[in-house]
Amino acid sequence: MPGYRERLARTLPRVKEAIAEGAAAVGREASSVRLVAVTKGHPVEAARAALDAGLTDLGENRVEALEEKAAVLAGAGVRWHLIGHVQGRKAARALAAADLIHSVDTLRLAGRLSRGAEEAGHGPAAVLLQVNTTGESTKSGFPIEGATEALLEAAELRGIRVEGLMTMAPLTDAETVLREAFRRLRELLNGIRSHDPDIGGELSMGMTNDLRIAVEEGSTMVRVGTALFGEGEMP
Ligand SMILES: *Cc1c(COP(=O)(O)O)cnc(C)c1O
Repeated sequence: MPGYRERLARTLPRVKEAIAEGAAAVGREASSVRLVAVTKGHPVEAARAALDAGLTDLGENRVEALEEKAAVLAGAGVRWHLIGHVQGRKAARALAAADLIHSVDTLRLAGRLSRGAEEAGHGPAAVLLQVNTTGESTKSGFPIEGATEALLEAAELRGIRVEGLMTMAPLTDAETVLREAFRRLRELLNGIRSHDPDIGGELSMGMTNDLRIAVEEGSTMVRVGTALFGEGEMP
């Protein structure tokens, strides 16, 4: 059984420092960046250790895994982030389980979530729209070409509240490539907010490999797994 408590005692200060350095480099407050601890591939002990370390924003990439951990930690005050692709037929479960869905990647899914939230009658569901800022065919997300129109159309749906945008940068150490992906997302968000001021200002970008650069480019939420918990098991 890996010692998640001991591990976090080592890793969390480093992650916080990377966020603080990125923020300081561009004159931002580190507190303007929310750290979402991604527990995917790790047992519920990882989530519990994160909570005990003061991390209340936890992320999972699959609805089932999120539901399982949320059931064990019910009442503990976790804000659950669903960060992976959501199949249309799981839309209702995603709505019920997650506090924020980062990965709304098509108009079709946005529509399903909107209808689901209206039917459930809990008011609009908080979502981020995922954009494929790199054009990689393996990545999901709204394509960057024509994104403005599609994102604005999604934001019109009455059952969802678009709090901002999310992207995944390519897996590379090339800083200019990473910056370009993050800058595109930021500019896209600025553009759509100038058309529709009801859209929120969240930018979910930055993972273990690129979180400092993401913060320098304006990230308000970094989604960090490996740097905190080590390599998880593949689902
Ligand atoms: C796994 C995952 C993360 C965390 O990635 P790390 O490199 O382990 O920090 C962030 N975002 C998404 C969408 C993920 O699937």
